[in-house]
Amino acid sequence: MKIAVLSTNKNLYSTRRLVEAAQRRGHECVVLDHRQCYVGIKQGQPSIHYKGQDVSNIDAIIPRIGASLTFYGSAIVRQFEIMDVISANPSQAITRSRDKLRCMQILSGAGIGMPITGFARQTNDVDDLIKMVGGAPLVIKLLEGTQGIGVVLAETKKAASSVIEAFYGLGNNILIQEYIKESRGEDIRVLIVGGKVVGAMKRTAKEGEFRSNLHRGGSASVLKLTKLEKETALRAAAELGLTVCGVDMLQSERGPLVLEVNSSPGLEGIEKVTTKDIATYIIEFLEKKYALKKEPKDGK
Ligand code: ADP
Repeated sequence: MKIAVLSTNKNLYSTRRLVEAAQRRGHECVVLDHRQCYVGIKQGQPSIHYKGQDVSNIDAIIPRIGASLTFYGSAIVRQFEIMDVISANPSQAITRSRDKLRCMQILSGAGIGMPITGFARQTNDVDDLIKMVGGAPLVIKLLEGTQGIGVVLAETKKAASSVIEAFYGLGNNILIQEYIKESRGEDIRVLIVGGKVVGAMKRTAKEGEFRSNLHRGGSASVLKLTKLEKETALRAAAELGLTVCGVDMLQSERGPLVLEVNSSPGLEGIEKVTTKDIATYIIEFLEKKYALKKEPKDGK
């Protein structure tokens, strides 16, 4: 196959690992910076170019689209899909999961466990909104935040109202969420590839911090999932339509609670902690999809 990893930086750990794994399995693999891809939209003849070259001959893509480039990046993935190129994740699922609110709405509709979450546009009913999520302490999250930036723990109702008002004043969209105190600064990341769990780790926040993101100084250790944790992660991925993803969950007294589902999960932490070759699982998943596509249909 000719595989393209869509990534803004070929030196990133995950990008390098995917290229390595693809080449080791005998594929040709290129890194395309999706910011530099451009598309031709023409009746029956969609095309895609990169730095002056036609790259329509790609068989499969692995989108590694950062949060700030979701709109453009998913448009490029969509163009590849229209050209019948296999993608590790569907473009629609990438956009769907990127919006934290949309993601929570879909998962709640599917009956998947999550912290009680509120969303509002105006400050008039802040008191009721705070009551809706069970009062302080509570967590306030910027809708577009990643890597723990824009996630605030408000210990008291007074602090919560001030922070909520400040965020609204700045014109930010926020989620207000029940604080799961029994998770004690720990969360779990489950890596899913092609409808299967391929690795899991527990992340622990550094001293004095409640956010366990590795970017916020958290540490990671290997984790054996319970049956319910496994099922919850798989259902969350399936509901969002993501085939390659990282599901973040909190362990609570009422079972696993999904925080978010990441369509471009970093491979460095999980590969190091689990010592598993997750990049190769992703390539093998593409190989299976490619074989299915090539299978003769209706005896032809
Ligand atoms: P981001 O997408 O920026 O990583 P998250 O929603 O995953 O934001 O939150 C970052 C971290 O904060 C989580 O990994 C978790 O450790 C902690 N956290 C988030 N929400 C809650 C919550 N409702 N209760 C307890 N801890 C939380």
